[in-house]
Amino acid sequence: MAADARVAMQVVQESGEIVETPLTPEELQLTWNRSVCPYCGVGCGVLVGSKDGRVRKVRGDPNHPANYGLLCGKGATLPQMVHTPDRLTTPLIRASREEDFQRASWDEALERIATRWQRIIRDHGPDAVAFYVSGQLLTEDYYVVNKLAKGFLGTNNVDSNSRLCMASAVSGYVTSLGADAPPGCYADIELADSFLLIGTNTAACHPVTFERIRRRKLRAPARVNVVVVDPRKTRTADIADVYLPIRPGTDVALLNAMLHVIAREGLLDARYMQRHTSDWERLQPLLERYSPDQAAAICGVEAGQIRKAALLFAKARAAMSFWSMGLNQSTHGTAKNNCVINLHLATGQIGRPGAGPFSLTGQPNAMGGRETGGLAHLLPGHRFVAKEQDRRAVEGVWGVSEGRINAKPGLTAVELFNALADGRVKSVWILCTNPMVSMPNLSMVRQAFAAAELVIVNDIYHPTETTQLADIILPAAQWSERDGTVTNSERAISYLEQAIDPPGEALPDWQILCRFARAMGLERAFAFDSAEAIYEEYKRLTHGQDLDIGGVTYRRLKQAPIQWPCPTPGHRSTMRRYTGGVFAHPGGKAHFIAHEYETPAEMPDAQFPLILTTGRVRDQWHTMTRTGKVPVLMKKEPEPFIELHPADAAPLGIAEGDLIVVHSRRGQAQAACRVTETIKPGTCFMPFHWGSLRGEAVVNRATVDACDPISKQPELKFCAVRVEKMGHGAGGKGQADA
Ligand code: SF4
Repeated sequence: MAADARVAMQVVQESGEIVETPLTPEELQLTWNRSVCPYCGVGCGVLVGSKDGRVRKVRGDPNHPANYGLLCGKGATLPQMVHTPDRLTTPLIRASREEDFQRASWDEALERIATRWQRIIRDHGPDAVAFYVSGQLLTEDYYVVNKLAKGFLGTNNVDSNSRLCMASAVSGYVTSLGADAPPGCYADIELADSFLLIGTNTAACHPVTFERIRRRKLRAPARVNVVVVDPRKTRTADIADVYLPIRPGTDVALLNAMLHVIAREGLLDARYMQRHTSDWERLQPLLERYSPDQAAAICGVEAGQIRKAALLFAKARAAMSFWSMGLNQSTHGTAKNNCVINLHLATGQIGRPGAGPFSLTGQPNAMGGRETGGLAHLLPGHRFVAKEQDRRAVEGVWGVSEGRINAKPGLTAVELFNALADGRVKSVWILCTNPMVSMPNLSMVRQAFAAAELVIVNDIYHPTETTQLADIILPAAQWSERDGTVTNSERAISYLEQAIDPPGEALPDWQILCRFARAMGLERAFAFDSAEAIYEEYKRLTHGQDLDIGGVTYRRLKQAPIQWPCPTPGHRSTMRRYTGGVFAHPGGKAHFIAHEYETPAEMPDAQFPLILTTGRVRDQWHTMTRTGKVPVLMKKEPEPFIELHPADAAPLGIAEGDLIVVHSRRGQAQAACRVTETIKPGTCFMPFHWGSLRGEAVVNRATVDACDPISKQPELKFCAVRVEKMGHGAGGKGQADA
């Protein structure tokens, strides 16, 4: 590996400038291992330099197709979050939540869980226990937890924090194209001449992908166009030819209007539609109601701009669309995804170089979770709990009796915490996530923890807002301390080498689960002796499926990432799907899906007149358990904030820097105000990273937990609030979560 590591460090700055630093002589003495950044779904390849059991340095992997050596500030500072004083090194247990945690042996902790879970399952049935997992687990962890719960404990109650970020993309792809996942690849960015960025602050949330789009635009500014749709004018809009600051939640109206224009202007690809799609006749009459003028009134943007955006997309030689939480975190998230895909199907902008819809996953292995059945309605290999033939196939590989897998989908994230709160679920085991910051409507989540009989948390750090509420905490090995695989946003599977040993007694999550399975008397099915052995078993469940990885081995992945499907050892990789226009629905045609614009679940009113939307800042990751420990990242955005338009701030006597309170029907959060014209009037924005361990800027105390009826993804991007300057009303009081 040393030769590969002899590259200058390339870090993309917020300004877009690339800063290069050559390796020092000391760094050349490090041992270098190949891995992947554990933060966002871009899945940048990294080289990990270690010495004496410590990670000393990372470099962008110049050979990884996601980033070709480039990293953002989060990836560049990874070593600083590995060796911290709050790392968990032994299991911790306590008899009651009033007591302090005590160190325990692995046997003691796992026996305690096994005894309690056996009793709960005996007394209340298997659906009285649940796992809540994370898109940051590796594929092998995901596979084991699904096998354990769905195949052996008898419950489908395994859901993931990925439910909060990309479930609507899954249901969008499945309903429109017949199967999950983006059809294209990152290499399409350099081939596209039109980009639609909708509901994504790509510059902040997927910085390396944004840098590729920015470079593409800057290299051919007259030929390449960019349309950005977002109620907040972020740095993503800096490269826009057309910027559409729509009212939050009105994307369906906008996308329908764009397709209305395309149809009116005779820009439909009739040949493609006739050969490869169905159900246009259902969509066409609905589009009549979405003229640019009608949509402009709903979306709060100019009709001419909608028309311009539509023509840029339809006339492009090759057009890509990117989106993330702005579309997905909605009670109409599936509809929004379908409407984006409708645009591509109507113009033939799919299944060829430089063209296609491309959802950006938020987490490093959200895709791997989808593949291994890491949501409550899924089984490994893109199979469904509700489909009998899928259950039979999985039961066969797992060696359990026919009918063992419950036909009823398990509880999704919000449902799961509701079920804990009302006592239907008695115990939850949380792996690799911090729901006491990231879930919506935290007062409900707090009630859920209070009601739970037994809360188990696997984490790398303690305390977090969630470990504080646990009965048992188990120390997990983290990035660089174990091996395994992840799949990034472009379906590329990468292998992560182990660079160093985990601290103390910490173990990879899959090993913790296998030890627990043995404590439950399930030795034979969980006798895995390596991550590779798990991968080989999981592979069997992809045979003949759309994501067939029969040709993928650890040996091949150690050379380079592979994009699925890759069904045979001689198969190279699949950059693009549907290149022949054959989609995954029976009959091979993609479906147009018609959706009317509908308002979000909780609209502003006289009592709560503003819309609250939430999101991320560039240099923090999720709930700050890792990036919050990196001084250089904290320096860039040290304090939480609330953005408010001057037209909303002035009548309330609020000025820049004032401490203000956001109230909703569910709770409140506090932060300093940023008065800015970059946000749509009537809307306020708060990042969701800050939790109760860092003060009162806990925005998810206010957010709503209404969900999309299909994807069950909660509407974290929209709820009704009012704001007050601190000192007025009840604003000054804190609100404990823990
Ligand atoms: S955070 Fe995302 S963009 Fe940044 S280095 Fe990691 S994977 Fe790449």
